[in-house]
Amino acid sequence: MIDSTNLCLSCGLCCDGTLIGFVQLSHEELPVLRELTDIEEASRDGVLIQPCNKYCDGCTIYSDRPKQCASYDCELLKAFHRKELDYTSAIETIEVAKQRKSAIEEKLALLQIKLQSQSFYFKMAELRKLYLKNEHELSKTPDFKDLIADIKQLDSLLSKEFGVTIF
Ligand code: SF4
Ligand code: SF4
Repeated sequence: MIDSTNLCLSCGLCCDGTLIGFVQLSHEELPVLRELTDIEEASRDGVLIQPCNKYCDGCTIYSDRPKQCASYDCELLKAFHRKELDYTSAIETIEVAKQRKSAIEEKLALLQIKLQSQSFYFKMAELRKLYLKNEHELSKTPDFKDLIADIKQLDSLLSKEFGVTIF
């Protein structure tokens, strides 16, 4: 049977650091999760930095996953639940998003722009700062403008279909 679990298993964009930068953990769930995964401490609570190392073709700590993970439904998933979107169309949208993300990663590698972040989500935040400052040595090159155009195109898709903005 095709259901939302299959859809999320085929997607993973909210676990692999594309749509979300970190998962906020509550004080109560820290003891269990500290045993299961690497947690960055932040005052009394903690955060799970994306890309999540518990994602491997699905969540490998599914029954113990953080509350924020369990309660998160992107707009694509909500539309699927409401039967406004069929499974095939949803998968097609996910694949387009993944292809555009891969194309951006390839261009980033070619341009050799030094970014500190591990996750795609935070890399986009760093790039946005560079773009707005307009001070990077590559800022005025056609390749950089081409990269920014691709990012804006992906951002527009993610905003429209998933309800998430990354740039
Ligand atoms: S981004 Fe949406 S469809 Fe993809 S795994 Fe997360 S909730 Fe599921
Ligand atoms: S704990 Fe599981 S559901 Fe949460 S981000 Fe990691 S892989 Fe995804």
